[in-house]
Amino acid sequence: MQEFKKALEKIRDANHIVLISHRHPDADTIGANIFMHIVLENNFHKKVTSVCADPLPATLLFITDDFVIQSEMPKNYDCIITVDCSTKEQTKFTNEMDSKITVINIDHHATNTMYGDINIVDPLAASATEMLYTIFENLGIKYSRHAATCLLAGIYNDTGSFMHSNTQKGTYITAGELQSKGADIKTIVKNLFKTQSIEQLKLWGKVLSNARLNGKGTLVSKISADELDETNASPRELAGVINYLNCVPESKMTMLLSEDLNGNVQGSMRSGNGDIDVSSLCEQFGGGGHKKAAGFTIPGKIVSQEFWRINAA
Ligand code: AMP
Ligand code: MN
Ligand code: MN
Repeated sequence: MQEFKKALEKIRDANHIVLISHRHPDADTIGANIFMHIVLENNFHKKVTSVCADPLPATLLFITDDFVIQSEMPKNYDCIITVDCSTKEQTKFTNEMDSKITVINIDHHATNTMYGDINIVDPLAASATEMLYTIFENLGIKYSRHAATCLLAGIYNDTGSFMHSNTQKGTYITAGELQSKGADIKTIVKNLFKTQSIEQLKLWGKVLSNARLNGKGTLVSKISADELDETNASPRELAGVINYLNCVPESKMTMLLSEDLNGNVQGSMRSGNGDIDVSSLCEQFGGGGHKKAAGFTIPGKIVSQEFWRINAA
């Protein structure tokens, strides 16, 4: 609460605020960004610039609508607000984050490194957008139907349409309130869960057929750069497929390894039937996330290994 008061004071004093989303953007970070953009412009009368280092996939453009998200930092700003970013590296703009400009860090990742000057971090929140709903509800601020769509899109995304264990009673209530405010559920669901290119379907097919269950209750799959190339899909089109892998009753944990086009291996992990904290596993590889959904990126390649054993009679 103290942090929130400090943030509000800083926002009121600022003239030009930069809102930053994390790299490889998803609907939570972009929904939070555009929601804040609308509110800071309309209710606080600020000059606002939205930034995300990586381009947005077409399925997130319903969130940006007429707003511009630029890939570089603007000049002459006096406050930075990051949304849904657990580390400053996830913004790409580490130099700017280390400058004298005040950084307000609004996030819900358990592994958040508290890199801001002001840190509003709630690991119990299902999404950054859910946090923003609560914050602005407490301030009694009214906003447009589109702003409500931005928040609900983030909640749908991070709860996997209310299927993940981060969905709580309050999440359903918030979603209902946002629907009452005019959030466009049909467009959210169509873009986030019912739009797939044929290339993406082929990619998911390879990921599913590469799935293996090891003897220790871990479901593993992989996609190499060559396999990715064969499908003509982009690495970002892997988003979502892990939910299908993470369904095998014998599996306590799911790991998807994928090679990107820059010589890195991206690891995505999910805790399945069990209580394994995958975020602490991913932290050991320089990544992070949530207890039940986390990831890491390391330079390298995936090497295939076969183990053979003779069970003597
Ligand atoms: P993903 O498996 O990509 O859907 O990511 C699951 C969760 O882990 C998300 O909350 C991400 O923010 C987080 N995450 C994924 N990759 C990384 C990384 N390299 N560093 C920190 N957090 C990550
Ligand atoms: Mn995110
Ligand atoms: Mn999030």
